[in-house]
Amino acid sequence: MSRRTKTKRPNPFVYYFFGFIVSFLSFAKRRVLFTYRTPDGREVHGSKVREELVKVKPPYIIVGNHHSLYDYVFAIRAFYPRRITFIVARKLYLASKFHFFVKMARAIPKNLFQPDIQTIRQSFDILGNEGILALYPEGQIVINGISKDMPESCAKLIKKMKLPVFAIRTSGAYFCDSTWRKYLKHGIIDIDISVALTPERIKEMTVEEIDEAIGKAIYVDNFAEQEKSGYLYKGSNRAKGLENILYRCPSCGIEFEIATHKNSIICKYCGCTAEYTESAHLMWNKSENYYPHIGEWYNAQRLAERKAIDADSDYEIFIPVELRILSETNTVIPSGGVELAVKKTRGIEKCGKGVLHIRKCGYTYSGDFFGEQKEIEFDVMKVRYVPYTPGDNFQIYVQDVMFAFYTIDRRYCAKAALVMESIYASQSEKQQPAI
Ligand SMILES: [Zn+2]
Repeated sequence: MSRRTKTKRPNPFVYYFFGFIVSFLSFAKRRVLFTYRTPDGREVHGSKVREELVKVKPPYIIVGNHHSLYDYVFAIRAFYPRRITFIVARKLYLASKFHFFVKMARAIPKNLFQPDIQTIRQSFDILGNEGILALYPEGQIVINGISKDMPESCAKLIKKMKLPVFAIRTSGAYFCDSTWRKYLKHGIIDIDISVALTPERIKEMTVEEIDEAIGKAIYVDNFAEQEKSGYLYKGSNRAKGLENILYRCPSCGIEFEIATHKNSIICKYCGCTAEYTESAHLMWNKSENYYPHIGEWYNAQRLAERKAIDADSDYEIFIPVELRILSETNTVIPSGGVELAVKKTRGIEKCGKGVLHIRKCGYTYSGDFFGEQKEIEFDVMKVRYVPYTPGDNFQIYVQDVMFAFYTIDRRYCAKAALVMESIYASQSEKQQPAI
C-alpha cells in the first residue's frame, strides 16, 4: 500500500510573492481598517494588529464570514507574515479564473455541502504541522449581505483539535465587491478579529454549542453595520447588476420586469423605482417604503417563493438551461432509481442544452448529455443549498460532481436557487413536523 503524501503548508516564497500582489490589487481603491480584540480585553488597530497576532504561535484555526470574493485577502493581510492554508470549494480549486493562485497557495479543496474525508485528513496534516487553517463555514458567498446558515460546519474539527479559534468578521466588503456587481466600488471595509474560542472553553463545550458560538462570532448584517458606521460607498452605476438577484417587484408583484439604470432599480411594468444610495440603502419614489435595503428585498423574495410552494401541491416550474459539468474522476452517481456514469471532465465542460423541471417530488434535467438525450433525476432532499453566480449559473452538487446550469434567461438563477432551497425547507419540515 502506498503511503499518502502529507499535505504541505503554503510555500513561503510563493505565498509572500502572491500575497503581496493580491493585497496590492485589492487594497488599491479602498480603506481597510483592522481591529483586534485581544483575549485580555484590549483593542488594537492598524499595524498593531499584525504585531499582536504574530505573537500568537500556531497551530490555530481561523473562521470568517464569506460575503465577498476578497475575504481571503483580508485574512492573509491581517495575519501576515504567518502562512495560512485555506479550505476552498473544489470548484474554485479546479476551474476558477483564480485556480492558478489557489493551487500555488496550496489551498485544500472541499466538495461543497457534503463531508469530504480527504479534506479532513489534509486539515489534520496542516494543524499537526503547526500550520494555520482558515475556513468559511457559510460555504458560498452570501448573496444578500446578511449571514444566514453555516452549511460547512467545522465544529467537529474544532472539538477534536482543541486549538484556539480566531474569528474574522468582515463588513463593508460586500458593498465594494458584491457577487452581483462586476465593477468594484470604493469604500471602507472593517475587519474585526477576535479569539472566538480557547482550548479551555472548547473542552467544556458540546459540538452544538461550538456551532452556535461560531455562528454568533461570524454573524454579519452588512446593512446594520453601515447604519452604525455611516460609511458611504461611492461610485456611478451603483445599482447595475441588481437585476440578477432582485426579480420580484414589491409594488405590483410581477416577476422579471426589474431593470437597473445607473443608481436606480426600476419595475418596467408599474414604474415603481428605488434609488440605491451611497449608504447602500434604498430610497423609494413612492410614498411606501417597501424595503430599507436589498438584503431585506431578497429575503422577501425567498418568503414569497416559500408561500407559493406551500400553497400549491402540484407546484412546478420549467427552466431552459445549458448544462455544464465538472467531474474530477470517472464516476457513477445516483439518478432516480438508476445509476448515471459521468466521465472525467477537463475543467468545466459544456454538455448540452435542455430543460430543468422543478417539482416538489424531484428535479429532472431532460436534454443533451454529451451527445445523448438523457433524463437526469436529482433528489430534493440532497439539494439543500443551491449556490449561484448572479446572472450566470446555479449549481447542484451530487457527490463530487458539479452540475452547473446556465439559465437561458441569465436573470433566472436567483429564482431557481430560492425555489429549490424553499422546496428543501418545506419538504424537510413535512418529514419532521415541528413539535
Ligand atoms: Zn411593479
